[in-house]
Formats: sequence, structure tokens, C-alpha cells
Amino acid sequence: MDAWWAWSDAWIFIGVFVGLRIAFIWLATQFIVALIPEGNRCVTCGEETQPLVHEGGWHLLGQRFHRRFCLSCSWEGVARTPSTKRGKRPPRPPRSKPPAPRAPRTPRAPAPR
Ligand SMILES: [Zn+2]
Repeated sequence: MDAWWAWSDAWIFIGVFVGLRIAFIWLATQFIVALIPEGNRCVTCGEETQPLVHEGGWHLLGQRFHRRFCLSCSWEGVARTPSTKRGKRPPRPPRSKPPAPRAPRTPRAPAPR
């Protein structure tokens, strides 16, 4: 019995199909994520929004997304939490220490004349 297809061909087809599907889902996810506003600014009026308490299945979205509510225009929606990309956290600026008051090592000597 001669099959007109072989399993090796089928695996290649399945592999390409699954790969395309994964790529499409990844692209769609990136597109949707790009649509979600980032930060805590309101999309419509630019005012600062207040975070809403996660209820129900919202925690499934993870720490990256938060429901936010605008007090000015009562906008409500999902916003991304800024700078929480895993592994791409921007380096913190080095905390500049306030300059310590330099204590005079020697008692004040009279200025040489
Ligand atoms: Zn607003």
C-alpha cells in the first residue's frame, strides 16, 4: 500500500503550521499590547488615573496590566504598568549620596601672610 504522503512530510507541514500559528498569535499579542496605553495617564484627558482593585479574573492578567479609572472624565480601562518588562528593567540611576560635610582635618590655622 503506497501512501501518497509520508509522515516526514506531515511533520514538516505540522511544524510549519504550528510555527505560523505561534508567530501569528505572538504578533497579535504584541499588537494588542501596543494598543494598551502605558503609564497612569488618562488616554482621553491626560489626567492621572487611579488604579482599581482587581476583582474576579483580572489578576490573571498579571502585574503588567491594571484597570484604571480617571477621576476627571470617568474613563475606565486597562493600562500597562510602565517599566515592568521582564528582563528589560531599565537600570536605576545611581543614587547620588548627598555630599558629606567635610570636617576640617586640622584646626583652622591662621592664614599665612
Ligand atoms: Zn480622563
